Amino acid sequence: RCGLIAIVGRPNVGKSTLMNNILGQKISITSKKPQTTRHRILGIHTEDQEQVIYVDTPGLHKEEKRAINKLMNKAASSALGDVELVLFVVEAMKWHDDDEMVLNKIIRSKQPVVLLINKVDEIKHKEELMPFLQKVSAKHNFEQIIPISAEKGTNVQAIKDLVSDYL
Ligand code: GDP
Ligand code: MG
Repeated sequence: RCGLIAIVGRPNVGKSTLMNNILGQKISITSKKPQTTRHRILGIHTEDQEQVIYVDTPGLHKEEKRAINKLMNKAASSALGDVELVLFVVEAMKWHDDDEMVLNKIIRSKQPVVLLINKVDEIKHKEELMPFLQKVSAKHNFEQIIPISAEKGTNVQAIKDLVSDYL
């Protein structure tokens, strides 16, 4: 079983950290270690019975004036083209216009999307997350909503397990 998974979100939500964490554990990596670039980054995660290619998008920018932003938008949008699942990453407690814009692009792509609420390690009391959860869950019919910490690895295994279901 194999498939393509897009990791999408506005800059700085933790997409690259998540991809590094997913790829960092008991895996063989065929590409070089993911780095921040202006292009799409592919990471290949191989386990016994499956191989998943993760596409870490360079972020979708609202500001399209500059040519480089246009190019980055194009790369990010094309990452949504033909994937098994979109992992839409947002930051806990912070919903920006850019998140809305990215979500609209994802919805237009008609791909199934899982909402990953990242950086929950920064929340002291987990019940503080509830109002945010309610707000964002109303925005789209997400396949699932998973609070994560890409940095600490919280729920990263749950993401891998979920991804398997879509291959
Ligand atoms: P990207 O632009 O979406 O690829 O975001 P990065 O992966 O580069 O992360 C942006 C910043 O958020 C970095 O300073 C990371 O260390 C930080 N970050 C990423 N994931 C987490 C997390 O789970 N918890 C916390 N506290 N910080 C995180
Ligand atoms: Mg990045």
